[in-house]
Amino acid sequence: MKVIVFSTKYYDQEQLDRANTNQSHQITYTTQGLDISTVKLAKGYEAVCVLVSDRVNRDIIQHLSEIGVKLLVLRSTGFDNIDLLAAENAGIKVMRVPSYSPESIAEHATALILTLARKIHKAFNRVRDNNFSLDNLMGFTLAGKTVGVIGTGKIGRAFCSIMLGFGCKVIAYDVKQSQWVLEKGIDYVALDELLASADIISIHCPLTVDTHYLFNKTTFAKCKKGFMLINTSRGGLIKTTDAAEALKSGQMGFLGIDVYEDETGIFFKDLSGAVVVDDVIERLMSFGNVLITPHQAFFTREAIQQIAKITIQNLTDFQNGISTENQVYSTMSNSSKPIYETR
Ligand code: NAD
Repeated sequence: MKVIVFSTKYYDQEQLDRANTNQSHQITYTTQGLDISTVKLAKGYEAVCVLVSDRVNRDIIQHLSEIGVKLLVLRSTGFDNIDLLAAENAGIKVMRVPSYSPESIAEHATALILTLARKIHKAFNRVRDNNFSLDNLMGFTLAGKTVGVIGTGKIGRAFCSIMLGFGCKVIAYDVKQSQWVLEKGIDYVALDELLASADIISIHCPLTVDTHYLFNKTTFAKCKKGFMLINTSRGGLIKTTDAAEALKSGQMGFLGIDVYEDETGIFFKDLSGAVVVDDVIERLMSFGNVLITPHQAFFTREAIQQIAKITIQNLTDFQNGISTENQVYSTMSNSSKPIYETR
């Protein structure tokens, strides 16, 4: 089938072409993101393939429907950037990659923790400047610390495994308990108990109406003084301005984020020659105990190959009229509106 891929990076093209064996699908690539000004590029295509940074709202869905698009394929697990109800009403099917490499994200969360705990980011810069002193580089040991995991799905469970390996005490909070987690001897606790007892909190639940700004000044006040917060899930889970205040007061000791609530327009772009006009992220970057990575937790060779493979399979399944669990329905989101419209 004919598909147009928006927000294409060289690695997407390389892997999608490799996965598209026998040239089963006619793929056109554009580096442009999908928005109201670029939606016309989808004319003549049955399927449109997008990334997390493409906000597919009602207006865009309307345009896609008018020009005959039948399928929206997401190169992601999360679908909080899509107006699912609008897609359903327009008869556009939405398919995603529900799992590609949960370990990639869990390992990245671990990298953020270790970097912050051992001040590797500071040591790296310092040594390059011929400064080999240990002043202010004292870190803390992970073994024996209490790690609170919010969301024990595929990524959360992979993360639990790693933390258990470090000799941490792991506690969890989820709206649904996992047998695997219980069998590992991990206790599910109430959210407030997790906040009060964890030295490190790592977020692995989706962004929904219930979890939007889950971390705000009220939740921060319930946390252990000096706690570390790690977010590799979605930016909207944390109210960033409140996080900056918690860092300033010392209530939060460390913040490691791979996602940011207003990352659209900033992340996935080289802005090194420009001025970043987002004061909130600029403020965060001024803290030495904050580590920001640009939504790269998924970005491993293994994950990219898997995303491309499943994306091509989704196109083939749609073409052959096969229903799979990769289809996303509006009932999977507990909001009638996409989360970015509820702010
Ligand atoms: P998953 O569906 O396997 O697990 C999500 C877990 O969160 C489930 O156990 C679910 O019950 C739980 N949950 C749902 N609502 C909750 C709530 N209100 N409170 C507590 N727990 C709740 O998903 P996954 O594959 O583990 O992915 C988790 C999230 O990671 C995705 O939604 C996505 O936003 C994010 N993600 C980020 C990257 C990245 O590169 N940074 C890559 C992939 C996924």
